[in-house]
Amino acid sequence: MEKNTAYHTLLKNLGLKVTPKRLALLSVLGEEHRYLSPEEVWKKLRRSFKNLGLPTVYRNMEELERHGVISKVLHSNRQLYYYFCPKTGHHHHFVCLECRIVEDISVCAVREMEKEIKRRVKGTVTSHILQVNGLCSGCAGKQ
Ligand SMILES: [Zn+2]
Ligand SMILES: [Zn+2]
Ligand SMILES: [Zn+2]
Repeated sequence: MEKNTAYHTLLKNLGLKVTPKRLALLSVLGEEHRYLSPEEVWKKLRRSFKNLGLPTVYRNMEELERHGVISKVLHSNRQLYYYFCPKTGHHHHFVCLECRIVEDISVCAVREMEKEIKRRVKGTVTSHILQVNGLCSGCAGKQ
């Protein structure tokens, strides 16, 4: 219950309408601590919302991603996943390809690239996307 209040506040602060579906979607992702595909989220949500269509889940996830509450994870298997990360401020994600956990990484190596782009290419960087893939300590130990 308390957690639901937190998601409620989160949506309100973003200026988004608080709907039961959005709350349920956030709690599915928030409780998981791993990245999930829209299909997986849909299957979980269908337990409470019988007539929920997959396109609605996609649309809601895209919207929450645009507002920065959840982040896209691009897997080498080409499947799209999302991860609950309402953390603001510039940071990147280290994702485990095996168990799907995500760690926030606050260091940004792209700053160095930006210097060269400014100096040599004479371009202006407006944004960048960077995701670091690998195996977490637990999964690396199993190999
Ligand atoms: Zn792992
Ligand atoms: Zn994050
Ligand atoms: Zn960065």
